[in-house]
Amino acid sequence: MGTRKETQSTTQASALSNAEIADRLAGLAQLLSTQKENPYKVKAYQRAAVRVRLLSESLDDLVKEDADLTQFPGVGEAIASAIREIVLTGKLRKLDALRGQADPEVASLTDYPRLDPKRILRIYKKLKINSIEALSEKLESGEIESALGRRAAQHVRQGLSEPHVMLLYRADALRDSIEEFLLTKCGAKAVQVVGACRRRAEVIEEIAFVIETDDFSSVVRRMQHYGGRTELLETSSHHGVYALAAGPTLRLRHCSSPDWALALIAETGSAAHLKKLEAVTERVTSLFGSGAFPTETAFYRKFGLEYIEPELREGHDEIERAQQHTLPSLVRLKDIRGELHAHSTSSDGSHSIEQMAIAARDFGYEYIGMTDHSQSLKIARGVPVADLWKQVRAIDKLNDNLNSRLTGIQVLKSAEVDILADGTLDYPDELLAELDYTVCSVHSRFGFGKQEQTERILRAMDNRYFNILGHATGRLLLKRPGYELDVERIIHHAKKTGCFFEINSSPDRLDLSAENARLANEAGVKIAISTDAHSTREFGTVRYGIDQARRAGLEPTSILNCLPWPSLGPLFRR
Ligand SMILES: [Zn+2]
Ligand SMILES: [Zn+2]
Repeated sequence: MGTRKETQSTTQASALSNAEIADRLAGLAQLLSTQKENPYKVKAYQRAAVRVRLLSESLDDLVKEDADLTQFPGVGEAIASAIREIVLTGKLRKLDALRGQADPEVASLTDYPRLDPKRILRIYKKLKINSIEALSEKLESGEIESALGRRAAQHVRQGLSEPHVMLLYRADALRDSIEEFLLTKCGAKAVQVVGACRRRAEVIEEIAFVIETDDFSSVVRRMQHYGGRTELLETSSHHGVYALAAGPTLRLRHCSSPDWALALIAETGSAAHLKKLEAVTERVTSLFGSGAFPTETAFYRKFGLEYIEPELREGHDEIERAQQHTLPSLVRLKDIRGELHAHSTSSDGSHSIEQMAIAARDFGYEYIGMTDHSQSLKIARGVPVADLWKQVRAIDKLNDNLNSRLTGIQVLKSAEVDILADGTLDYPDELLAELDYTVCSVHSRFGFGKQEQTERILRAMDNRYFNILGHATGRLLLKRPGYELDVERIIHHAKKTGCFFEINSSPDRLDLSAENARLANEAGVKIAISTDAHSTREFGTVRYGIDQARRAGLEPTSILNCLPWPSLGPLFRR
């Protein structure tokens, strides 16, 4: 579990790191959330804390140089002045005052900014406890899970532990910021991200770079000023390892330019991949200094292998396939022709169908399926039967050629239909028959046992209007595991009935997992790569779904939305 570091600065003389400043902003947000405070204000402090934690430049330095902090996104006047106060006085009066007024049990939560005070107080009350120590004990003994459920236990577990991992999309932002810092502030001549980030793994524990520089020890020294202060854990003549305040570790590996490609090979593949690779080649590091490999492709070719894309370097069957020259041609963004899962203001989306359609067209798509939530999902403003009938007719009008604003994009009539507890679908068949296709999803009763949950989905697939299973396991990465399912049985049934899966590209879902997508593909079941966009800004997240598909070895021919609509539509008629 680990004890959290004391967040108050111990000596006023030492500079505060951005992480320490972020901790205080997050603590303030947390206490404000227990008051009757404007929720936007709470969110603004939370967001600022996240941003500040990812900033490469030292806020402490910037404040002391009297720089304008509102230049950073998410930092307005109020937050800038809070940051100045923290740096210049070592305190935040508002935070101290709120701590002083709060019950001691709430005040003690501010050392754990990721705990939601309202939730924790409910747990305290139910289990008749009032301290972090007791909370931790009840977590370990399983009492939180049995009394309040798996999600409550998961929240406590995450809130109490130091974050050592982060989702790929957050790691991408951090990677960009570190890369720029290395190039502009540390004297690196070239940098390339390697390891799990380059393989596009969904959760990142370590961000690793290969770097070229004339003076590695100086790079190692200067990197310690990243984000105000970053702790150096260990160093050698060609390695530097740091504890990033945002959670993951950072590893720098020095390499001279003749060995660049070899270093990329040695540092990108997983351990399982390298073991299989080196059984065919030689120990990659033993070739350093030979200068014989200007590119990764040259290395592979020397040993009779096809170039292996980084996403495939996990130790599955890629080495054998590279030897046989039968590696898949992995799907790319330009292969995607449309979006099959998107919401509008008809349910819980932020933009109208027309706005979503125009944005999809501007993103380069040929079609967009509007999959608003179905009637039972009240929490997401599910569309009643009569309203979906109206929407069907409205979309027919929108697609009418006379509507010139929508030329170049076809709007498909669809819905994200709830799979009800008994496996029936949430709309009557005569309405489902009017739709171009359906996405059918589980949004309730996550607690069903494996068999019950599996059979519920199989039963739903038996409906001839079931087309694509939305976010199959319901997992939320780092938040909650998926519900229990017999995935292989569902894949088998999908093949038999003519149903499909999606890879939901939301960075915290990525559901199907690469492993499940690989299984579905091997069974010959096609997969949609969808974003589940709830606004016009979210189409870009498709890149994370593509990453996932590539990790599963999927080619465009395995992807539903790589097909033009005239070829795709008939696949949905069962
Ligand atoms: Zn959904
Ligand atoms: Zn959805």
